[in-house]
Amino acid sequence: MKITNAIGTSSASCSCASWFAHWEKLSGQTTNFCQATDCSNASPCGAHVKKVGDSTVYIYPLCSKCNQRIGMFEVSALFKFVSANEAETCGKRYSLPGYYR
Ligand SMILES: [Zn+2]
Ligand SMILES: [Zn+2]
Repeated sequence: MKITNAIGTSSASCSCASWFAHWEKLSGQTTNFCQATDCSNASPCGAHVKKVGDSTVYIYPLCSKCNQRIGMFEVSALFKFVSANEAETCGKRYSLPGYYR
């Protein structure tokens, strides 16, 4: 799977403890390593990424170094991409009745 980093998303937040916690909760998966295929750094964070040809922003486990990469790179196909759109994921459960986007 080829991805790029999504630019200008660092201020976005959700109600989870971190974007990595958000990824764990929504994917039902966990990992202690960056999932770029040519990297094995420990302690990944929840990086904002895009798949090539898809404008949706997803959260995926990458180390801080890979989160700074410019251009396309390859990541593992074993892990799920979780939507970074709070309203479609974790935000639902905390929405007040009558709250519409
Ligand atoms: Zn969340
Ligand atoms: Zn990495």
